[in-house]
Amino acid sequence: MSARKKLVAGNWKMHGSRAANAELLGGILQAGPFGADVAVCVPAPYLGEVGITLAGSAVAWGAQDCSAHEQGAYTGDVSVSMLSEFGCRYVIVGHSERRAYHGETDQQVADKAKIALGKGITPIVCVGETLAQREAGQTEEVVKRQLSVVIHTLGQCIGEIVVAYEPVWAIGTGKTASPEQAQEVHALLRAQLRAASQRADGMRLLYGGSVKPDNAATLFGQPDIDGGLIGGAALKAADFVAVCRAAG
Ligand code: PEP
Repeated sequence: MSARKKLVAGNWKMHGSRAANAELLGGILQAGPFGADVAVCVPAPYLGEVGITLAGSAVAWGAQDCSAHEQGAYTGDVSVSMLSEFGCRYVIVGHSERRAYHGETDQQVADKAKIALGKGITPIVCVGETLAQREAGQTEEVVKRQLSVVIHTLGQCIGEIVVAYEPVWAIGTGKTASPEQAQEVHALLRAQLRAASQRADGMRLLYGGSVKPDNAATLFGQPDIDGGLIGGAALKAADFVAVCRAAG
C-alpha cells in the first residue's frame, strides 16, 4: 500500500446549472467526509458560488483551465490571480479536450501549470495518447513528451503538481483502460518523475477515462494509481460518492 492519500477530482466539463449544482454538491456534502481528498472542478461562471457552498467543508474546488498570462488583453480567459482570490485549490490544465479543440500545446500547458503554482493553486496536468497513437505503439513516447515539457518548465517545483493520465480513447467513451494498462503507464510516468525529482514517490498520479462506481476500486488499487479525474460519473451525486468511497 502506498502512503499517498488518494485524490478524486470531478471534472464537470460544460455541464451544470445553479439548481443542479446545488443538488449535486448537497449530495456530496451529505455523504462525506471521505477517506480520500475530494474536489470538484467546475465551469468558470459557477466558481464563486461553488466556493461559497463548499467553504468550511472537506470538499475542495477547482477550475478546468486558466490563462498562461498574469493579466491583460486576453478576452474570455481567466487568470490564476482571479481564481486564487476566491480560494481556488486546483486547476485542470492540458485536458485532451482543450488540447484538441483549443490547440493547446505542451508548452502552453506547462506555462499554465507554472503560473498556477505561483499562486498556490495545484495544477492537475493531463497527459494521454489517442487511440491512433496507442495502436501505433506510441503511448510511452507521447505521454513522456507531454510530461517532459512540464518537468523542464517547472524544474524542482514539479513535485508540487498532480498528474492525470487520461487516455483520450477512454474519455467519455465508456472504454476504460484496464487496470493493468493504466498501471503500466502510471509506472512509466512515476519513473520519469523520479528521474526529475526526489519527491516523485509522494506525487499523486490520477487515472481518468470512464471511471465508474463499478471499476473505480480496481483501478485505484493499482500501486501507482492515486485516485481519479472523473467526468461523466462526477455529475450524479450517487455515482461520484461511490467513486470517492472506492478511493478510501
Ligand atoms: C474527463 O473528462 O477528464 C474524463 C475522464 O471523463 P469521463 O470520466 O467521462 O471519461
